[in-house]
Order: sequence, then structure tokens, then C-alpha cells
Amino acid sequence: MSSLEERNEVGLPAAAAPGSSAAGLGVGASGPGMEPPVGGSGLQPGQEEPVLRREVPGQDADPEVHPKKRVRLQEGEAGKLEERLYSVLCCTVCLDLPKASVYQCTNGHLMCAGCFIHLLADARLKEEQATCPNCRCEISKSLCCRNLAVEKAVSELPCECGFCLKQFPRSVLERHQKEECQDRVTQCKYKRIGCPWQGPFHELTVHEAECSHPTKTGNELMGILDEMDQSHRKEMQLYNGIFSLLCFEKIGFTEVQFRPYRTDDFITRLYYETPRFTVLNQTWVLKARVNDSERNPNLSCKRTLSFQLILKSKVNSALECSYLLLKGPYDDVRINPVIYHYVFSNDANETDYMPLPIIDSVECNKLLAAKNINLRLFIFQIQK
Ligand SMILES: [Zn+2]
Ligand SMILES: [Zn+2]
Ligand SMILES: [Zn+2]
Ligand SMILES: [Zn+2]
Repeated sequence: MSSLEERNEVGLPAAAAPGSSAAGLGVGASGPGMEPPVGGSGLQPGQEEPVLRREVPGQDADPEVHPKKRVRLQEGEAGKLEERLYSVLCCTVCLDLPKASVYQCTNGHLMCAGCFIHLLADARLKEEQATCPNCRCEISKSLCCRNLAVEKAVSELPCECGFCLKQFPRSVLERHQKEECQDRVTQCKYKRIGCPWQGPFHELTVHEAECSHPTKTGNELMGILDEMDQSHRKEMQLYNGIFSLLCFEKIGFTEVQFRPYRTDDFITRLYYETPRFTVLNQTWVLKARVNDSERNPNLSCKRTLSFQLILKSKVNSALECSYLLLKGPYDDVRINPVIYHYVFSNDANETDYMPLPIIDSVECNKLLAAKNINLRLFIFQIQK
């Protein structure tokens, strides 16, 4: 029994070390996705976990057991139902209560959406089959399913306000943090005329009474407003840029699908390439690479993609183009539009690698986890 208990307790650190008890148990099991022998109890995988946690409180002294989890389990023994449920419903990788979707492996181990996507993305980078860190069974988007019961149960559990650290049911927490918490971060009402102050709500009244911004002279305020206008102007430039491109005579767009490949290097690297496609009567290819081909992108938390547009056809004269990549109809990618510009010729048929303006690393992992990356490419030909 204690072996099962142990295995359920193991978080990512132990599972990541080959030959650790977690990995060992997976190998010793009678097949992928099978439970290790547990004294012939014949229990269904996953079913007995909560019971075991209550029955065998910290019996095994495995040093690899995650310390954070261990503490929680012991508190849970003496604590309230909510506290015991916490250790049952938490993500088996990050040991936090999932905030959004919850996925489970075929043996029922729970993973929050972030960890699940991260595991799939890491496996893609290392060219391995992704496995459950708990039982080593294969995981993928098609093999794992959501667990709605857990998602709903979690939303009923009390949660700590990030500002005042008091406990609230998750269903009211959002309103509390937005509107009611005395410690929530607020901004001075004179922010519009440049006051940078921000602080807890209960200090707001005092600050606003003392704030120097309303007493500034018109001239001083003009300077501040000019600065603030700068950032708005940049945003407007982008949109105006897109609108003026839309007036061009020659506009082409197409759905592009980046597919994963490996380099021939000794340590192979993941890169992406689209099949050849035609836009504006020319043949093109797009390539993309992860973390600018850093040696071991799976070792860093930061994930970026950069891409390159290559003209494959021969041209009679230089082809001056603006181009941009946006979310297409087949993938839900969050991208901040950026317009790039390049003059293509037979000698200079490849753009530099430009950052694919994905909003953050989490979004980038989502793309890596999804195998193919579907986007929409626009090319605007500039005619003199
Ligand atoms: Zn997690
Ligand atoms: Zn599992
Ligand atoms: Zn609060
Ligand atoms: Zn102020």
C-alpha cells in the first residue's frame, strides 16, 4: 500500500530524475498505464487515492516525497474537509489547485492545464512521447480528457485572497479582489494626468488627498500628457498602418501550417517549416524556430518563436513587401499584430528571423504542444 501512496506523492522533481522511485515504479508495472502490484488488492486505478491518503498518513519515509505536499497532507489529517480535498484535487505536477481546466492521464492523475501543456511542449522539444510524471503512461491531447467534476469541486473550495490573505469561496473571490478587498492594488484617480502612484485600497484616500498632480501647472501637465500620448500614438500607427496596407492593389493572404521537424545536428533541434504555398503568384515558405535555436530550450521557462519568410520563386525585379502573421481560422493563438517589411530579390530572398509576436511563453507552449501551428499570412506588395 505504501508504494502507491508514495507514488501519488511524487511531484515533478522526483519524476524528472530517471531511476527515482517514480520512474522505477512505472517501469516495474505490468504494462504502460498499469498500476504497480499492490498486494493483490485488485483496486481500480485512481479510485483508492483519497482513501489511501487518509489511511496511511506519512508512513513511508521516502526522501523524494515533495516536502510541500507532505506538509499539506499532515495538516489535512487533522484539518477540515477542504484542506484534505486540497491534496486530492491539486495538480500532481505543480501541486497547486488548478485555476482553469483540469486534465487527467488514463490512470486518473490530475494535471492543471498549464502543466499539461508544458509537458506536451517539453516532449515536442525533446522529441519524446510525453508521459504522465506520476505513472509514466503516455499522455497527449487525445489520450487525456478533462475532469469536469474536479474543475467544479475546485471552484467550490475556499481560496485565499492574494491581497489580504483571507479565505473566500472561489465563486466570490473574483468580486472580492476586484471590488471589496481593502488591500487590493489601486491606482490614483489622477493617473489620467500622469500620477504613477499605486498602492493598497485603504491608502488610496490619503494619497489622493495629498497627491501633487492636481496642483501642477498647465505647462507641467502638458509635458506629462505629451509623454502619455506617445504610447497611444504607437498603437494608432500600427492600426493606421494596417488600414493603409488594405488600400494596396496587390494583397494576398493564405492559411499557413508550420510543421515540426528536427535538425541533423548531434543534438537535434526542433524547428518548423510550412509546405510551399503561393501568394501573389509567387512561391513562398515560412520557417520558425524555438528560442532562437538556443541549445536546450526545454531547460528554460521562457519560450519564444521567431519566423522567417522565404521567397522561392525567381523574380524579374525587386519585390517590396509588407507582411504580417495573424491568428488564422484554425488555431486560437493570441498574437499582437506587427507589420514587417522586406525587399525580396533573387539574391536576398530570405528575411531575417523576426519574433513571432505571441503574447507570452504560456501561449507559446500552447503552440508547441499542438504539433502543427496554423496561422494566416498576409503579404502586401508595395508598388512604386
Ligand atoms: Zn499544475
Ligand atoms: Zn498518470
Ligand atoms: Zn482580500
Ligand atoms: Zn496621485
